[in-house]
Amino acid sequence: MYCPNCGIENPVDEKVCISCSTELPVIQDEPPPFAKTSTLAIWAFVLGIMGLFSFLVTSLPAIVCGIISLVKISKSCGRLKGKGLAIAGIVISAIGIIVIPTLCFITALIFRQN
Ligand SMILES: [Zn+2]
Repeated sequence: MYCPNCGIENPVDEKVCISCSTELPVIQDEPPPFAKTSTLAIWAFVLGIMGLFSFLVTSLPAIVCGIISLVKISKSCGRLKGKGLAIAGIVISAIGIIVIPTLCFITALIFRQN
């Protein structure tokens, strides 16, 4: 940390300047420079895509993961990212839940007519 008085660089855990003994400002809860992607958001996305191929088995867990990760991301004050992944997971699952049964229904109708 740089001393505001003399500008010299001090060790990170130093409380007073090693050169001029000025008290150094304390940095509290500084967000890390690189936000971590929420693991739950990644799961929401992966499970959402898997839901399209596994006949919706993973779609409900994907929506649950997506909602939980969105809540965690909004509470993390920028420490977590992956909002897009979480939303994509939820949307893909929701589309799967609507589209796949509809396709099955239409297919059943077509085959019944033969
Ligand atoms: Zn100093």
